Amino acid sequence: MKDDTGKDLGAATRLARAGRRAEWTGMPDQPGGIVNPPVWRASTILYENVAHLRAATKDTHQRLFYGRKGTPTSWALAEAINGLEPEAAGTMLYPSGVAAIAGALLAVLRPGDQLLMVDTAYDPSRAMCNGLLKDFGVETIFYDPLIGNGIEALCTERTRAIFMESPGSLTFEVQDVPAIVAVAGRRGIITLIDNTWATPLLLPAMGLGVDISIIACTKYIVGHSDVMMGSVSANAAHWPAIRDRAYGLGQIVSPDDAWLALRGLRTLDMRLKRHGESALAVAQWLAKRDEVAAVYHPALPASVGHTCFARDFKGSSGLFSFALKGGRTAAADEARVALVDSLALFGIGYSWGGYESLALPVDPGRFRSATDFAASGHLVRLNIGLEEPDDLISDLERGLAMWREKMVPT
Ligand SMILES: *Cc1c(COP(=O)(O)O)cnc(C)c1O
Repeated sequence: MKDDTGKDLGAATRLARAGRRAEWTGMPDQPGGIVNPPVWRASTILYENVAHLRAATKDTHQRLFYGRKGTPTSWALAEAINGLEPEAAGTMLYPSGVAAIAGALLAVLRPGDQLLMVDTAYDPSRAMCNGLLKDFGVETIFYDPLIGNGIEALCTERTRAIFMESPGSLTFEVQDVPAIVAVAGRRGIITLIDNTWATPLLLPAMGLGVDISIIACTKYIVGHSDVMMGSVSANAAHWPAIRDRAYGLGQIVSPDDAWLALRGLRTLDMRLKRHGESALAVAQWLAKRDEVAAVYHPALPASVGHTCFARDFKGSSGLFSFALKGGRTAAADEARVALVDSLALFGIGYSWGGYESLALPVDPGRFRSATDFAASGHLVRLNIGLEEPDDLISDLERGLAMWREKMVPT
């Protein structure tokens, strides 16, 4: 999106303006219009005559044709997400982030292909490789997130695609996306990224040359923990395949959900800034605590892949982990559980990206096969919400006191 002089508009401006086409917010015979595209619910579309019905079949993408092709509510959301990546030719929506990952992989892979999948991938992505894709004749090779241009050694004639997720959502290693993209480009391999943690606002992945960018909109796009959704944006070379596979699989989001997601998207820039600032403050506080063995946050200089983070990212979001001291014994696990249970301001639950803080015990080692994760102690993952960071720190301070009590029985 550009202004009258051809200058690119900033992300916050694009978020405020995107998807508000006059034909989606007004009526043809009336001047003026409402601000937000409303909820257009539809299955059947009625035509004035048979000629109109027949003409409508020629191009059904983002046109009123049949409910499964969406309505202006979902088109507005798709257009707004698409606008986050200037290189994107189009964006499709899916009923969850996992559905988006499946939709993208099923669009690019064929039986007999090899897929290179990052070892720190979101667990259901890994399960998809070992289940669905395996059943359809696709072989997956898991690779070290720090492999960089060393990925060339894993590429064969059969390698169709490389899947990245950066940072990993349990241990937060940052990948060298440009190095991997360069290898893939030389060899004609398709690159995909799960960009849920950063969103294009913090990591403009397609600007770095990634072909296909996937977001679990359930997290930061929706931002309020009340809608499941996913999106896939693709460059011109891959957009037709992504679009046609999504339609072929019958993927559709409800207009009510699209409307809520679009409402969330409007405030994404300011929410991400707040999540990022607060999470960094909490991470820096934790890093100084005696009870804490390590903090896994990409913006901390000691974190794995930090130089790539500093080079490629525009900031950090609100999700990170820390390891407690005391080893990985059963007693130390009990102390970890006591810490998490004692927190008053952190909910205990899966997912993240909402306005409310969450704490989750995580055990990343069991989700890997190509690399080892040698944490000295048990991990807790935090989703830092929009509360006052000082309040969250006080809550964690009480939680750590509880942990100490368990570790050193008096
Ligand atoms: C949550 C998540 C997904 C899946 O999103 P759902 O909407 O829960 O299916 C994919 N990738 C990452 C990194 C996630 O955190």
